[in-house]
Amino acid sequence: MVQQLIAAGDFLKLTLANPDGLAPFSFSLDNGTQVQVWDSGVICFEPEQASNDDLVLSCGIHGNETAPIEICAAIVQDILTAHLVPKVRLLVLFGNPAAINAGSREITENLNRLFSGYHSKGAGLINAERHRAKALEQYVSQFYQQLPVTSLATRNRSLYDLHTAIRGSRFEKFAVYPYLHGKPWQQAEFVFLAACDVNTVLLMQTPATTFSYYASHSHGANSFTIELGKVKPFGQNEMARFAKANDALRALIRAEPVKAAPFASSQFNIYQVYRSIIKQTQDFKLHFADDIENFTCYPPGTLLATDGDIEYRVERQGEALIFPNANVAIGQRAMLMVVPTTVTDNLG
Ligand SMILES: [Zn+2]
Repeated sequence: MVQQLIAAGDFLKLTLANPDGLAPFSFSLDNGTQVQVWDSGVICFEPEQASNDDLVLSCGIHGNETAPIEICAAIVQDILTAHLVPKVRLLVLFGNPAAINAGSREITENLNRLFSGYHSKGAGLINAERHRAKALEQYVSQFYQQLPVTSLATRNRSLYDLHTAIRGSRFEKFAVYPYLHGKPWQQAEFVFLAACDVNTVLLMQTPATTFSYYASHSHGANSFTIELGKVKPFGQNEMARFAKANDALRALIRAEPVKAAPFASSQFNIYQVYRSIIKQTQDFKLHFADDIENFTCYPPGTLLATDGDIEYRVERQGEALIFPNANVAIGQRAMLMVVPTTVTDNLG
């Protein structure tokens, strides 16, 4: 298995052939990089001489979001075949192998609503996604914490969870910056996002059950959910649209500076959450076209949704909608309403 993996570098293929788990194994490359396979879809690289950076890249948390899976699979392949030599400690995660095989967002439950312990709440560990969320948390903890405690203070942790959205977007690429509990937004992270061609950033104001919030809150990582475009089947992604993100991620892996202009807040469309619309009854209905783009705005007063007797109308000028989905379970978010905001040019 090791020889085949080094020769062809196709870790995604190995993962998809073993969606329910893979016994751990490890080996080293001729360039000194230590490779550890921890599980199906979980591969860790330790350079012989690593920088202070501990980088986690995740994709396929939603199984049908193929472009990030292709980007990460190619990165892993290039490392295994020694075309890309990592200078940072790197953990690459293919989030939901069974859903990738099925070509579906999820098998039974949205994996990105199960982190920060939510996998074990309510009914508990009742399905594969809940088990996977718990395991992914453990792998991230193991990755960040396996160094000697004395070195931890100086480590620079990051986790970029790569997605593509179900629908089109007024801004093709955007990032969700998890709630920081009052800690400052990081200027260097905005610069990295710009290098990825991501110029729209949504600043969250509350804790969440997402993977990126988990990494940020539980491990102090610089962490984002990054939406790189629209969902397409494998092989149908126009990879040129992802070239800047791909280049920026590879620069990070080589511990090289990313190519981007100095930070200026005016380069970005920055939004914050205004309100979250929760589905309360089976009658929840959206009052706009199914193919509406994320970040669409309507004039104040426009009817957006009804839920039994409740009407949701646009309340503020510039209020924009994202992630509308009437098919979520009762009690889950059916749509997020956001409003433009600004950050200063002097971030942390
Ligand atoms: Zn997604």
